[in-house]
Amino acid sequence: MKKITIAIDGYSSCGKSTMAKDLAREIGYIYIDSGAMYRAVTLYCIEAGLFNGKSICTDELKSQMDQIKISFKLDEQTQRPRTQLNGKDVEESIRTMEVSSRVSIIAALDFVREALVRQQQEMGRAKGIVMDGRDIGTTVFPDAELKIFVTASPEIRAERRYKELTAKGEKVNFEEILTNVKERDYIDEHREVSPLRKADDALLLDNSHLTIAEQKKWLLDKFQQAIQ
Ligand code: C5P
Repeated sequence: MKKITIAIDGYSSCGKSTMAKDLAREIGYIYIDSGAMYRAVTLYCIEAGLFNGKSICTDELKSQMDQIKISFKLDEQTQRPRTQLNGKDVEESIRTMEVSSRVSIIAALDFVREALVRQQQEMGRAKGIVMDGRDIGTTVFPDAELKIFVTASPEIRAERRYKELTAKGEKVNFEEILTNVKERDYIDEHREVSPLRKADDALLLDNSHLTIAEQKKWLLDKFQQAIQ
């Protein structure tokens, strides 16, 4: 059966990665979380002391980009990929509020995007891939056979993230998360390079009031239609 490219874009915390991961596992495709790559660069910047408050030492980061190696390792137990930064497993440390509150700044830098988009295109060369992010259907794989754009209200997304972080034992405040969600939406939509927007040929999915099972069925139907 022919393999296709599936691009899943949308707002932060709208469940894109859960749906993309589940779909990839179900249909035997490779799953790539492009947001994890921007998060890994952000973690690198925090650890290397490249942040000065909320601003970033752009020249230093530019000169160190070649030293930032991001890859994914499949977790045998969960069958899900875990993000590696320079050979170290960072799957948990890239999901903290500290990284979330800085990642959009890093993702707005043109040279960071160029480097990561190049790697993402390389990863998808053989097709049979599900990639989620913000610019997958518009910039990374504009020719993807199936493009989905996911959205949900900021309050619902903040609530989902709040539950996810508290379940992991992180002490977080709902209002702080809501502000972060809205802030990231704003920066992602208004940046100059590859702003977050729905590709004209993407299918819109508002999952505010859908269960995971309903969403899964919707996506599988779209996949079946796309491969026919
Ligand atoms: O998907 P996730 O919320 O983990 O992504 C983290 C951040 O990385 C986003 O808020 C966005 O700023 C950035 N991003 C991006 N382009 C992508 C994926 C993520 O700009 N393709």
